[in-house]
Amino acid sequence: MISTELLDRCQGQCELCQAKTETLETYIVPPKTGENVDEQVGLCPDCLTYINDETSLHTEHWRCLTEAIWSPHPAVQVVSYRILKSLESHAWAQDPLSMVYFDEATQEWAESLEDAVRHVDSNGNLLTQGDNVILIKDLDVKGANFTAKQGTLVKKINLDMSNPQYIEGKINDQYIVILTQYVKKA
Ligand SMILES: [Zn+2]
Repeated sequence: MISTELLDRCQGQCELCQAKTETLETYIVPPKTGENVDEQVGLCPDCLTYINDETSLHTEHWRCLTEAIWSPHPAVQVVSYRILKSLESHAWAQDPLSMVYFDEATQEWAESLEDAVRHVDSNGNLLTQGDNVILIKDLDVKGANFTAKQGTLVKKINLDMSNPQYIEGKINDQYIVILTQYVKKA
């Protein structure tokens, strides 16, 4: 559901890529909870999909952010800043980052997730606490004398917040540590 307030602000266009669409969706800018329209961005289905997908295949699409980062709305500024930051290896992404000026609160919001530990699967998709994953290769489980087979479904994983490469899950009734590079999101 998208609020009328946000719809009014969007004027039928995605706030990042300006695509005209009838199916705008609400993106809540973390770590905010989105109770207020100032914490939300109205996105087209493409932008929403790409934001949740960590692969860098959408680089060209995000050139739209060199415009979007100048939005008068802090929520749009923050989202644009974060994505451009992740593309900093491209010269076109560096320019707006070096020119833009945010007020203090917006800057803090934009940078608030930079220290967060992020877990991604073998395809680069973000993993979250409680996700189900599938093993993409046979894994010898040390100290447990069995091999966890490729294709095994591991339900409700735990993330190891001290290490972005480790998750934990139950296989054969035992909790084991699994490297994120050997799983894909189910
Ligand atoms: Zn869009």
